[in-house]
Amino acid sequence: MKNQLLVGGHVSIAGGYKEAPGRAAVIGGNALQMFSGSPRGWNFAKTTPEDAKAFREEAKKLGIEACYFHASYLVNLADDGPNGKHSVDALIAELEVAEQLGVRGSIIHLGSFKEEKKDAKDLMPTLFGKEDAPAYTKHERYPLLISNIKAILKKSPKDTLFIIEDMGMRKIGRSLNEIAQIVRDVDDPRVKVCLDTCHLHVAGYDLSTKKKLDDFLAMFDKNIGLDKLECFHFNDSRDEFGSLRDRHDNIGEGKVGKDVFKLILNHPKLKALPFLLEVPGFDDNGPDKKNINIVRSLAA
Ligand SMILES: [Zn+2]
Repeated sequence: MKNQLLVGGHVSIAGGYKEAPGRAAVIGGNALQMFSGSPRGWNFAKTTPEDAKAFREEAKKLGIEACYFHASYLVNLADDGPNGKHSVDALIAELEVAEQLGVRGSIIHLGSFKEEKKDAKDLMPTLFGKEDAPAYTKHERYPLLISNIKAILKKSPKDTLFIIEDMGMRKIGRSLNEIAQIVRDVDDPRVKVCLDTCHLHVAGYDLSTKKKLDDFLAMFDKNIGLDKLECFHFNDSRDEFGSLRDRHDNIGEGKVGKDVFKLILNHPKLKALPFLLEVPGFDDNGPDKKNINIVRSLAA
């Protein structure tokens, strides 16, 4: 089983968590991502022992081996107002549900300091260069971001993961240098990283050749640690390299291109990770069998 490709998509929880594994299996996935509630509202995640058991049984029966939550889009852990407090409480509730469901953890957009107005070209990261992180890590609300993450870890189940997603836009986590600093400052084994191929592309990380991917991974290992890399979001991009926009495309249909996915899927250090799709779908219904089959064919 260890050599099996782990691939899946973001699926709906309409009808309850227990409905999600079936939706993941129908599109040919053996991994899944889901929200714990509405991603655009503050309704805290909750479950019952029966509901949690039903989810676990469905996932097991259908061979869904890796499950994740994607945290609400409202989360901003660098906000010093009520939104920041709601973010902390919502993530604690979500991780409690994760433990009951056997979900590994939450993939989280950390938020933003909401004041960047620079041009995209001024924000282009050098590969773990020293220039771009300080703008974030010296911000007056950076200590709040770190203390909020620590508070969530302290008050949530110890076997759940806090997974930081790299961002493609003017958000915290656009630069991997900055994620490296956050990981160091929080200093907790439960903090992991999810890399989104669309976000890396629009943030200006070039993975288009084996050499470039190897260099990227060597620097990731040195600055963050490859053991921290939990999973990939596998999305193509409608936008150009370095554009700092974030519009996902179907695998192989966008500006990232099949070659990059193929390199990642077949890289010895990456191929055992879960690959989670958040693509529009060929029928605009979200991740579908066709996209997953493309991923499988590129991994073969
Ligand atoms: Zn995300």
